[in-house]
Amino acid sequence: MNTRPPRTRSTADWQALDAAHFLHPFTDFDALAKKGARVITRAEGIYLWDSEGQRILDAMSGLWCVNVGYGQQPLIDAATRQLHELPFYNAFFQTATPPAIELAELLAEVTPPQFRHVFFTGSGSEGNDTIVRMVRRYWDLMGQPERQVIVSRRNAYHGSTMAGASLGGMAAMHAQGGLPIPGIVHIEQPHWRELGQGMSPEDFGVEAARWLEAMILQVGPDKVAAFIGEPVQGAGGVIVPPATYWPEIQRICDRYGILLVSDEVICGFGRTGHWFGCETMGFRPDLMTFAKGVTSGYIPLGGVMVGERVARVLIERGGEFNHGYTYSGHPVACAVGLANIRLVRDLGLVEHVRDVIGPRLAGAFDALREHPLVGDVQTCGMMGALQLVQDKARGTAFPAELEVGMVCRGHCFREGLIMRAVGDRMIVAPPLVMTTAQLDEMVALIRRCLDLTLDDASRQGWLS
Ligand SMILES: *Cc1c(COP(=O)(O)O)cnc(C)c1O
Repeated sequence: MNTRPPRTRSTADWQALDAAHFLHPFTDFDALAKKGARVITRAEGIYLWDSEGQRILDAMSGLWCVNVGYGQQPLIDAATRQLHELPFYNAFFQTATPPAIELAELLAEVTPPQFRHVFFTGSGSEGNDTIVRMVRRYWDLMGQPERQVIVSRRNAYHGSTMAGASLGGMAAMHAQGGLPIPGIVHIEQPHWRELGQGMSPEDFGVEAARWLEAMILQVGPDKVAAFIGEPVQGAGGVIVPPATYWPEIQRICDRYGILLVSDEVICGFGRTGHWFGCETMGFRPDLMTFAKGVTSGYIPLGGVMVGERVARVLIERGGEFNHGYTYSGHPVACAVGLANIRLVRDLGLVEHVRDVIGPRLAGAFDALREHPLVGDVQTCGMMGALQLVQDKARGTAFPAELEVGMVCRGHCFREGLIMRAVGDRMIVAPPLVMTTAQLDEMVALIRRCLDLTLDDASRQGWLS
């Protein structure tokens, strides 16, 4: 395989053009323009190459999405075929296309049994906007229009549109653009290490779920429409809740008749070792948002799985639902989704995560607990977090202004590894096709980057 990048322009030229015209998401525009973006030119399997020809192990699957790895021919063929045959037609005008119909059928098959219907969107954010409108519509149709309030959690991530960012619990996002929109409230996250002092994880899980009950009672049970959560928080730092958390959330939602929404945008399609995160965590949602892994990121696609409880009401009593996107059920995106899910099934990736590569990641991260910088470790399937600490014995955090996570991330970049820093949590979400040899290679790189960060920290006197 030729590892040289296409030499159409020099890296400096790319960077100058990028700085001149391209405003990047979640980026300090000026700082990036001064530093210069890293230009990724191609990829194969679990590896990327940049415009300098450096090979990089992509331990984040792009952005939590390239689950089948790069360069998968069935997805490329599906897109090519569909582009020739019918590149676009909409689903508004009482029309449908074969890929959208077949993907709807396949989704009904691979999702838990309460799901038989899907509403397609172009992204996870649009999926969560759809959730807000759909749950409020449901309660209108049920004759309880005062049920408007949706409960979410601090440090949740549900996307970047007005409703997505409002459902999310990121303070920095709420600070820009007048968010959250009305009717969305937040409870604390089930983060045992941060909030569970003095409690066993099991007791803390129940306690954290009861914050939902307290919020329901505060708002008024007849005003609460739904609760939404990621089975495992992704962008918030791979925060895996105690096993007792979700079953208790389920009990509380059942008790007050509140709709339970699982945001499966990261956890869906095998990442946690089951098809969906709700199956790993043991709960039964009424609605699920999906995106990212549905096409392994090869092309944008998202949607909402609508459980029969809600679907029957929308179908039988709803009349017209005044909502939809130009690209709802886009035939090329759906063709890629079909090819992707079939490939996940043919390669046995869910079982690979559950039985082989997920346990190996857990074991390798567990061994990293011995590292002087690592204060805590969490994994779930093919997601993992390493919490960096200043004083291992006492578990004290580094002062935030040292940005030790960014120091570590800098070493990863230079060593040819993409690992993300969320504060001082170093996180990975590797492609599900990763082999055991590739996992060992990744862990060796991680260990090396931790050692380099430790050297920096001791040289700077940060450890005393
Ligand atoms: C990425 C993400 C979203 C938003 O999806 P987009 O396709 O970026 O709009 C929503 N929820 C979760 C849990 C995500 O990780």
